[in-house]
Amino acid sequence: MKHSVTTTANVRAHRMVIQAGDWRYHFDRTGRFLFGVRAHETVRRGLDDRVIQVRLPAEGGIIGRTYRTLDPVEKAAFYRRAYALARASLGSLPAEQAAEWKPLLERWTPEALAADAHAFRQVYLPINILPPDQYHALVVQITHGCSYNRCLFCDFYRDRRFHIKSKDELQIHLDRLQRFMGPRIADRSGVFLGDGNAFVVPTDKLLSMMELVREQLGSSVSEDFYTFMDTFTLEHKTPEDLRRIYEQGLRTVYTGLETGSNRLRAFLRKPGTAEEAVAAINRLKEAGYRIGVILMVGVGGPKFAREHLAATRQALNGIHFTPGDLVYLSPFVDPHDTDYDEQARAHALSAFLDEQMEEELARWRRALASLPAKVTLYSIREHLYA
Ligand code: SF4
Repeated sequence: MKHSVTTTANVRAHRMVIQAGDWRYHFDRTGRFLFGVRAHETVRRGLDDRVIQVRLPAEGGIIGRTYRTLDPVEKAAFYRRAYALARASLGSLPAEQAAEWKPLLERWTPEALAADAHAFRQVYLPINILPPDQYHALVVQITHGCSYNRCLFCDFYRDRRFHIKSKDELQIHLDRLQRFMGPRIADRSGVFLGDGNAFVVPTDKLLSMMELVREQLGSSVSEDFYTFMDTFTLEHKTPEDLRRIYEQGLRTVYTGLETGSNRLRAFLRKPGTAEEAVAAINRLKEAGYRIGVILMVGVGGPKFAREHLAATRQALNGIHFTPGDLVYLSPFVDPHDTDYDEQARAHALSAFLDEQMEEELARWRRALASLPAKVTLYSIREHLYA
């Protein structure tokens, strides 16, 4: 196939980056496509071979972005073009690099890439959500699901029962994971322990699982562990437990406070009060952990907006943040698989329109600007384990 666009390639940090017209395509060390980007558009590939096209509105902002999963025909066409351009760019590399990358690029036909979807399913149950700075971690599913699984806004784990893996199950998972990742494991940024609230695993079990992960993966991946924690089961962990887990390398924990409003929390079926959630977070802070606190902007709609922000601001004031902590503003997305809509109607709650949500985010940013933690966006629609 002839391409009229000029293509150039360069290789850095074991990645190949192709500039082809207004597109820039990235390929990993094995030659698999990672993502393509041009003005107002990105196309990203997940480890499960889903390819998501994201269109960015010219006026900026996150709410107006559109997300579309390419169907198999579109995906194959996209891959063919990206790989043809990549092969055409090899001439711009030094001969030795070009010789090294040529077979890698030739290997990844659309069919070969599609086989990753099946291989992914042999390792994982779907990875439905991660914190935004963990999309490139190595997810190890030491548990499946969430031990609570009833928050009104959350349908991430409705497809599975909560289960803590046995040693043998974890061993099999790690073996498959290593085979699936191959040399790509070196590019992962740390180990994220899944799924929804893996910190609930009893301390001795959690420590032995982390030890097994470390034994099995050795130095192939960063030694840092990360996980999600709920705010309502931490009473099962003593200060000594928290210290031992921290010393084993799990030092960053992400947790959904969602809101400081106890009325809204009750509506959302979020267990415990905001005060109890803050106390749990502060127990982690006392043990030295870095925390990511997730807030759900816009949940409850305009009716709750004022109370939601004021009470959340007050709750955040009670958290003993230290530098490096994060506060995530996560725009509420109506879940498919819960009775949120029905409950919202029963409580006469309407939803924010897109442009109102953008304003709401800006309002929260201003209100939280003076917090001693970094305040950043967390759009769950951006999630892709890639
Ligand atoms: S929000 Fe967290 S605690 Fe609530 S159901 Fe989802 S994973 Fe479980």
